[in-house]
Amino acid sequence: MSRADLLQQEMGLGPAWRPRAGWFEQHPAQLPSHAPEAGTEQAAMAAAPAEPEPPHTGDAIMAMPRETAPAVPPPAEIAAAATAQPEPAFAPEPLRAEVRVESAQLDWPQLQSQVAGCQDCRLCETRTQTVFGRGNPQARWMLIGEAPGENEDRQGLPFVGRAGQLLDNMLQAAGLDREKDVYIANVLKCRPPGNRNPAPDEIAACNGYLLQQIRHIQPTLIVALGRFAAQTLLETEDSIGRLRGKVHRYQGVPLVVSYHPAYLLRNQPDKAKAWQDLLLAHKVFRQAAN
Ligand code: SF4
Repeated sequence: MSRADLLQQEMGLGPAWRPRAGWFEQHPAQLPSHAPEAGTEQAAMAAAPAEPEPPHTGDAIMAMPRETAPAVPPPAEIAAAATAQPEPAFAPEPLRAEVRVESAQLDWPQLQSQVAGCQDCRLCETRTQTVFGRGNPQARWMLIGEAPGENEDRQGLPFVGRAGQLLDNMLQAAGLDREKDVYIANVLKCRPPGNRNPAPDEIAACNGYLLQQIRHIQPTLIVALGRFAAQTLLETEDSIGRLRGKVHRYQGVPLVVSYHPAYLLRNQPDKAKAWQDLLLAHKVFRQAAN
């Protein structure tokens, strides 16, 4: 059994997905990256009305007895979904002004430095450190989560701990290297105390940093991880169930919504849906990169 098969088996999905002919050539590592202009575990997921995301506790899916794992679609079904994905449906893009970067555009090191010393909202009083992001600033994929959790606040990196491990496994199974092919950031750069939901004024204060990160990275595709990130980026209160399976746009960049890996740790049936989201993301990426 190949490494990818093992990873997918670990995710409870089975060795379902295989790279198709031509996929490798379209892999992010094989494509020219955009040149930059210059230079969690997260808050508990509150229930969404139509498709709730219950709070997560950080239980490791790897520690769950295999026999307790709920049924997932058979490998052939997932493989068929990969090859027979319908043409992505683009959701209407909300009317937006230009990229709303209120502060001056900084180069990457300046931006990192400004975030590290930021005191623009109350979260600076309770954080251990800011969590700027992780990965390749020239990556074609950008993953955006909600906010740092306890582990992220302690380590200064997004998506560490068990949720980060699951995300790594999913990315690897999809042929993406966390450090090379993707850049991972959060809407908020500081941990809300007690992993509470971010407040609107905190989001407003921090939004310019994320927008500047996107301007620098110029991703081909954005994946919003979790209800909160999706609703914040898309400025909607729609449930994650309504937002998944469509192609949205954020600042002109195609955006696909999926579940937060911390949520998936406790909701194994939805791992299959997350895999479908990843397949959709691959399809959108291939189209956008061409
Ligand atoms: S959350 Fe954002 S705006 Fe608030 S202090 Fe941290 S970096 Fe600054």
